[in-house]
Amino acid sequence: MQQAAATPPQKATSNPTKKPTKPTMNCTMKTEPTIANASQVARPLPERRAVDRLLAQLDQIAEHSEHLFKKPLGQFEEGGKNYALPRYVYLGPKGGGETVRIGIFAAIHGDEPEGALALTRFVAALEKNPELAKGYCLFLYPICNPTGFEDNTRHSRNGKDLNREFWRDSQEPEVRWLETEVWTHAFDGIINLHSDNTSEGIYGYVAGAVLSENLLEPALREAEQFLPRNLERQIDGFASRNGIISQGFEGVLRAPQNLKRPPFEITLETPQKASLHRQVEAFSIALQTILVEYRYLMAIAQNI
Ligand SMILES: [Zn+2]
Repeated sequence: MQQAAATPPQKATSNPTKKPTKPTMNCTMKTEPTIANASQVARPLPERRAVDRLLAQLDQIAEHSEHLFKKPLGQFEEGGKNYALPRYVYLGPKGGGETVRIGIFAAIHGDEPEGALALTRFVAALEKNPELAKGYCLFLYPICNPTGFEDNTRHSRNGKDLNREFWRDSQEPEVRWLETEVWTHAFDGIINLHSDNTSEGIYGYVAGAVLSENLLEPALREAEQFLPRNLERQIDGFASRNGIISQGFEGVLRAPQNLKRPPFEITLETPQKASLHRQVEAFSIALQTILVEYRYLMAIAQNI
């Protein structure tokens, strides 16, 4: 089986002298939601944690990349201030078959910025080796809870745990926008990034397509280069085997139920008390591994 190569940490580079022409996106925005004008990014108040600063490196890559597009999503108001959900689209080199669409969601709990930082690291790795994303169109949502991120709270400023609100007729604008995304793009895979301050090791949840476990296991194995795996038999109140949990909370960010072809669904949880660097590297290598393994499994499936 192919293995994703572990690369040493590095800064994202961009070449300001290069002026590439971007290809037209062919796998996105089939029906751009029309709830509101998505063209403006919110400017947080200076005393709060700044969304813009966290995303500065991604923005810089998007400016010069042939593959990464900045596409902020939606707008909503909270306390008289306008917010948007940051969204980036990474369009890999064309593969042989149909483009595979994967949604990767981070910081739906505002006090878990590790996943958002990891997405920057992940994109930097893809920029260095775009073949990793061959055949993929990746929809990246680094901060799904911008008000909670600003306030450094799990909940949104409206007092809600957004990750318990999905597909329950929620009135929370972040949830409605993200539901629209999940519905519109009909993702082949959904990946959630979280950090758990009660865990000593990395672990994950699987749901959706049966093959999810076949993706999570190698992803955790690669991540073990940077973090121990949580091998407890019970995590978060759920039965766990080798750091893999097959149940989950109600209302989490996932695909709607009863789809004819459910996507694979993986939630990665890093131990939040571990060093940030190790969490970022573990997320990044886990994501790269999932891309490699999914492509491999699809190729096998086609030959059966
Ligand atoms: Zn979380």
